[in-house]
Amino acid sequence: MISMREVEKHYGDLHVLRSINLDVPARQVAVVVGPSGSGKSTLCRTINRLEPIDSGEIHVDGQRLPDEGRDLARLRADVGMVFQSFNLFGHHTVLDNVTLAPLKVRRSARAAAREEAMELLARVGIADKADRFPAELSGGQQQRAAIARSLAMRPKVMLFDEPTSALDPEMVGEVLDVMTSLAEEGMTMVVVTHEMGFARCAADRVLFMDGGRIVEDAPPEEFFGSPRGERATSFLASIL
Ligand code: ADP
Ligand code: MG
Repeated sequence: MISMREVEKHYGDLHVLRSINLDVPARQVAVVVGPSGSGKSTLCRTINRLEPIDSGEIHVDGQRLPDEGRDLARLRADVGMVFQSFNLFGHHTVLDNVTLAPLKVRRSARAAAREEAMELLARVGIADKADRFPAELSGGQQQRAAIARSLAMRPKVMLFDEPTSALDPEMVGEVLDVMTSLAEEGMTMVVVTHEMGFARCAADRVLFMDGGRIVEDAPPEEFFGSPRGERATSFLASIL
């Protein structure tokens, strides 16, 4: 579903992605961990082409990522992304946040878009908040609304970049629960997170990034269980 070949990315002199080769098959959940600045966010942002790459190739569902233009909008619809900050539109209700893109980009009919949005809000457990504004919701509810909004585009892939890092601890679980059911339903997911409980339970594999490279790539039981590189060991020690 996602294929990255020899992807390189610089910001000026800074070499942020180095020779990235990664294949994520459909229905797989890849959890990405690693120290701050190792390139995790940049990796995600290249997969939905929020960031251009310098060289290499990225394919999503067999389609090579285009450099610009119309195809880019279609690609972005295929690849949903949820960020640390919830990025909801503050002056729209929760329901409108979820229907806006389907109405605009997919040109869905209004009634169908609302019906589907209500189903998604029910799925993430906040159907009762449909007519509220984002500021009236807790952080966990806002992040669940952001997930519903992404799902409304019927993406083939979902990217999560530290989706629980800005949440109060008591709200982390409700967001991880939604992500876990999404994984169980077979969504292809790339998840940057420091929630090792989620990685153990929901991940098919754990990627450890360091200095712009993927330096470990192993199933969770192996990543957490067996001897691993020194950097990954000290990283794990620092967050557990
Ligand atoms: P992570 O998500 O693992 O913390 P990032 O992908 O955000 O890492 O960043 C990787 C490196 O690229 C860091 O050194 C960061 O400072 C740098 N960086 C990220 N975004 C930009 C940008 N837009 N311009 C310049 N440097 C950036
Ligand atoms: Mg980051």
